[in-house]
Amino acid sequence: MTLQIQSDVSLKPFNSFGVDVKAQWFAQAHSDEDVREALAYCAQRQLPLLVIGGGSNLLLTADVRALVLRMATCGIRVLSDDGQRVVVEAEAGETWHPFVQWTLEQGLSGLENLSLIPGTVGAAPMQNIGAYGVEVKDVFVGLSALDRQTGELRDFDLAQCQFAYRDSLFKHEAGRWLILRVRFALNRADHLHLEYGPVRQRLSEQGIERPTASDVSRAICSIRSEKLPDPAVLGNAGSFFKNPVVPAELAAQIRQSHPGLVGYPQADGQVKLAAGWLIEQAGWKGFRDADAGVHRLQSLVLVNYGAATGLQLLALARRIQRDIAERFNVELEMEPNLY
Ligand code: FAD
Ligand code: NAP
Repeated sequence: MTLQIQSDVSLKPFNSFGVDVKAQWFAQAHSDEDVREALAYCAQRQLPLLVIGGGSNLLLTADVRALVLRMATCGIRVLSDDGQRVVVEAEAGETWHPFVQWTLEQGLSGLENLSLIPGTVGAAPMQNIGAYGVEVKDVFVGLSALDRQTGELRDFDLAQCQFAYRDSLFKHEAGRWLILRVRFALNRADHLHLEYGPVRQRLSEQGIERPTASDVSRAICSIRSEKLPDPAVLGNAGSFFKNPVVPAELAAQIRQSHPGLVGYPQADGQVKLAAGWLIEQAGWKGFRDADAGVHRLQSLVLVNYGAATGLQLLALARRIQRDIAERFNVELEMEPNLY
């Protein structure tokens, strides 16, 4: 027995909203054996298991009557290197941003646009994390996961993961797959994605005309630090709603009354709307009700000023959803995982 299981543990330090609820049971997994021990513990007691990483995409609305298992496994290894394409594998518990930095230090390009995203490697495929025009699926080769129902270890390739915009098989089959490690194909030559939003502009402000992957990472870190609240200072889970993809006719209809509508045409003819823009137009930017609020710089981010409960944050989210549906006929879908 290596797994240390504690009872009645506050999850406040383990979720980036800083919501103060308790786990009935809590443990940290440092190895595959710990994970299997946790599964056996739950099976013997018919206890639910909640697997978490950094807790940066969670909204906890009540005490969790389960074993909460925090993935804390460590390890990064190069699986193959043909001088150009390098396949790297990282354990689920590795923290995402230091992992990205490690790849850049090895001279590997591919993850730079995903710099400074909180959380762990194991959670990255869950919602196919994305930022500044790049998604995990763009560099993903495979992952190994345990089927929690059968204990079977299974390898998934890119196609099997069914990645989509902030979505994957693992999100659809929530509670079934426990991701142990993830593999990425990175490149020794820089293939940079600079076309998105303010990235190129920030680089040229810095006088960088021929950027490296590390330059792009630094530029993105500086943009993100200016715009997004640091969860260590102000509780939040990043974007609270997904950007809605709507029929072109609906986007045209909204544009008639709101000529400044921010929308991005998609390959399938639909239009992706900036949810933050809709919320801002509806007047929610900077709104605060007790300790639950909408961030003053980024309307897509709900914040906890200190003592907000998960239910208060959820109530605010529902009010925003209703308001946006009434004003724009657009349904906003929540991004964080609700427990
Ligand atoms: P957690 O919140 O711990 O878990 C998320 C979900 O994954 C839960 O359902 C959990 O049960 C499950 N899970 C976790 N680990 C495993 C595992 N090993 N196996 C199976 N299931 C698992 N997201 C983006 O996509 N792009 C961004 O740019 C971005 N920016 C953010 C900025 C801020 C300030 C914050 C707070 C969040 C941001 N996010 C962003 C959201 C979040 O960082 C990502 O979703 C991240 O991948 C969550 O990782 P985590 O380890 O914290 O997951
Ligand atoms: P932003 O640059 O203000 O842009 C607003 C929205 O417009 C973004 O959400 C983005 O959609 C979309 N957009 C902007 N330029 C685009 C382009 N050239 N092509 C297609 N879509 C475009 O966004 P931001 O809030 O500062 O965030 C910057 C990036 O970090 C975004 O990619 C965002 O998704 C990511 N981010 C994610 C989270 C999270 O928790 N999920 C939190 C913070 C930041 P997309 O979101 O589809 O990219």
